[in-house]
Amino acid sequence: MPFANADAAEYWRSAEKEELALQKCKGCGAARFPARHLCPVCWSDQAEWSRASGRGTIYAATVVRRAPSPEYKDMVPYVLALIDLEEGPRMITNLVGDGALNWRIGDAVRVTFERRVDGVMPQFELVGNG
Ligand SMILES: [Zn+2]
Repeated sequence: MPFANADAAEYWRSAEKEELALQKCKGCGAARFPARHLCPVCWSDQAEWSRASGRGTIYAATVVRRAPSPEYKDMVPYVLALIDLEEGPRMITNLVGDGALNWRIGDAVRVTFERRVDGVMPQFELVGNG
């Protein structure tokens, strides 16, 4: 699990409740991910958290078949994906569940939450599969 810095703390608290949360700029309204102090659109430092729909589409993905390090040995093959969220931000994540290896660009996905020993990790699954 990534280190939960102050900007991202609410993201991880929401994940514990199985909610996907995004920062929304109070200046221009843009949603952003990952969490950060300044809006990348208008540079405002005023933001609020809002619950995302959890829906998105696949922008790009790849199937990892060779473990990048020994800890990943039992996880391959797995899918690393770039998901365009309905709210706008593009999120790097894993695609999991039935049919994940047969992803296609543009496929509809929805968030799902994996409980790990060190916390809850938002991931995505294909809609209509599982
Ligand atoms: Zn802004």
